[in-house]
Amino acid sequence: MSQAANPRETPSPVAPAPRAEKPLRVNVRTPEVMERVQAEVEEHYRSLIVEKIRARGGSLTIGDTRVRLAKQFGFCYGVERAIDLAYASRRVFPENRIFLIGEIIHNPEVNRQLREMNIETLPWKEMDAQYDTLTGDDVVIVPAFGAPLDFMEKLDERGCKVVDTTCGDVMKVWRRVRSYAGDGVTSIIHGKAKHEETRATASRAAGKSGAGHYLIILTLEDTEIVCDFIRNGGDPDAFLERFGGAYSEGFDPARHLRRVGVANQTTMLKSETEEIQNRIRRAIADRDGGDETNFQVFDTICGATQERQDALFDLLGEPMDMLLVVGGYNSSNTSHLVEIGEKALPTFFIRGASCLKSLEEVLHFDLHRAEEVTSYPKALLGDGPVTVGITAGASCPSNLIENTVLKIFALRGVSAERVHAA
Ligand code: SF4
Repeated sequence: MSQAANPRETPSPVAPAPRAEKPLRVNVRTPEVMERVQAEVEEHYRSLIVEKIRARGGSLTIGDTRVRLAKQFGFCYGVERAIDLAYASRRVFPENRIFLIGEIIHNPEVNRQLREMNIETLPWKEMDAQYDTLTGDDVVIVPAFGAPLDFMEKLDERGCKVVDTTCGDVMKVWRRVRSYAGDGVTSIIHGKAKHEETRATASRAAGKSGAGHYLIILTLEDTEIVCDFIRNGGDPDAFLERFGGAYSEGFDPARHLRRVGVANQTTMLKSETEEIQNRIRRAIADRDGGDETNFQVFDTICGATQERQDALFDLLGEPMDMLLVVGGYNSSNTSHLVEIGEKALPTFFIRGASCLKSLEEVLHFDLHRAEEVTSYPKALLGDGPVTVGITAGASCPSNLIENTVLKIFALRGVSAERVHAA
């Protein structure tokens, strides 16, 4: 495959703007291209061992070591589509510069593969001068999370070829917050204010008129502060300070919490989202004498996130000694799987097999300390029988699960050949 010129060789950050025109939304999914792309993607991410374990009902036992896989884990439809489109972009535009806004999904291995295809990353937190160097010959991939409106407008202005991989489930949330804005309802978004998807959603909460507002909340503690303000009012300045950076310009809690609609980042923990919805509903009803007409809700957790959470609850019904959750540390849906797991048994959030250092040492991400730490789980020690559960978020390819399975068996003295032959 021919490679595009290195974008770092771009001559000047002040290149003249191209014609102002709508970006060319390019369809790279032609049957011929997709056939080749799917073969390539399968080669990079498929796992025969994972398929074999799935075909056996999700469990593989060799000697006294058993591995159990959740019924649903790994790549979701939105992620598969985004990766296919990114690979197809390079096939369709072998000579063009291709850029990606941030990460296509939250998995280091997948993002590394794209870098190897000379797909360069543009900053996603804020636009820098690099965006002003884009031209009509450049291809820009919008990730599965979507991108904020001002980023899309910049691509419009520069006239780039846009390959938009935004997941349909994310766009459903956008439609919801736009409709709240159209009804004069403020969007309360349950999500992470700095997450790509939530930033993209929040940017749409102004609606067509531009008059809509939003407030982003993450925790039950945030929810209680909002509910208290709804019921009793309070000091708007203190409220705004508490939620700094997580509300729309001009947001006034005294005015904009009168009519609210809840939506959520697609990958949140369902039980927590429901609790937040219920608390806000009760606060509105308390304030309005039992009337709930100033409250709207629309559950926007995506089907894939829901299936992975449900499958983990099922898996936790089986006896296991430990749970490994495989995925990128910045993956929201993966971190919620960890939260579910750690309530039930020793759970380790790992990037991949290399985190399993030995029988005694596991490198993993501690969600509470927000850092990678080393633990020394006793579950893998000794000669007795051991059952290890494995799940993975929607951004984790099967080959990383396969490596993890092989490593567990290797640490228990079972060779890769035996696992393949089992
Ligand atoms: S996790 Fe859900 S919203 Fe995100 S890409 Fe997958 S299907 Fe779409």
